[in-house]
Amino acid sequence: MRLVVVGADGRMGRMLIRAVAEAEGCTLAGAIEREGSAALGQDAGTLAGLPPLGVNVTDDPLPVFAAAEGVLDFTTPAATTHFAELAAQARIVHVVGTTGLSEADLARLEAAAHHARIVRSGNMSLGVNLVAGLVRKVAAALGTEFDIEIVEMHHRMKVDAPSGTALLLGEAAAEGRGVSLPDVRVSTRDGHTGARRPGDIGFATLRGGTVVGDHSVTFAGPGERITLSHHAEDRAIFARGAVRAALWAFPKRPGLYGMTDVLGL
Ligand code: NAP
Repeated sequence: MRLVVVGADGRMGRMLIRAVAEAEGCTLAGAIEREGSAALGQDAGTLAGLPPLGVNVTDDPLPVFAAAEGVLDFTTPAATTHFAELAAQARIVHVVGTTGLSEADLARLEAAAHHARIVRSGNMSLGVNLVAGLVRKVAAALGTEFDIEIVEMHHRMKVDAPSGTALLLGEAAAEGRGVSLPDVRVSTRDGHTGARRPGDIGFATLRGGTVVGDHSVTFAGPGERITLSHHAEDRAIFARGAVRAALWAFPKRPGLYGMTDVLGL
């Protein structure tokens, strides 16, 4: 499968180039960066710390998408919605790892998914998707006497909060309880907040250092607590998951898929 990496000079972009070069069944067909990026014209392999791959970074996605079969996209919401339209026009697979998408951004992805196969997940790792399955089960088994709190920590450069993974875990907990996350989500607490509302799902965000991604979901009941947690040690897990998602989606029909579909969970 011929794959393009957009945001090629990003932390995830460079990981994705390495993952494509190492995986079986795919080759790097292009590498895109934004206009004015210092990476333009460089060999994508060299950029990712590999021997040259013979693919130069460019800022013109149209001809590159036209000659490719899939695009791996861990960029920004504005870039991702633009790439979704181009991927749909080119009828290629679009794997979206970008987080912080608004409701309007998601609606644009849904529209693009009429023509494209899109796999989107706030976390492309096997471990987190397994934990999400466990969270769904535990939340379904326990009543609202168990308060659900989600804590996440990421590196100091992360720009959105709570993380896409924290929201994915919150969605799993809400699904288990049969409620809608926006109705029970509490993402900020400051000052005189009053007592906790039964049934709320709380989020707390820590930022600092180089932490790749730590998440824990605590079910705090009367006299006991259960905590499910996941610690990402290496960004390569997300990049490998994204390549797997692209290969999985290649023979599928247009639609919007998630990592649980890819992993068969
Ligand atoms: P990053 O280092 O800032 O990388 C983003 C890259 O995209 C940058 O090189 C940026 O270029 C580039 N970019 C922005 N707009 C562009 C455009 N219009 N055209 C082409 N390239 C463009 O960030 P990151 O740490 O790699 O994370 C990227 C996203 O992935 C974030 O939303 C993050 O939360 C998410 N993420 C998801 C997962 C998952 O498993 N789903 C895992 C890790 C990270 P400039 O620097 O020039 O702006």
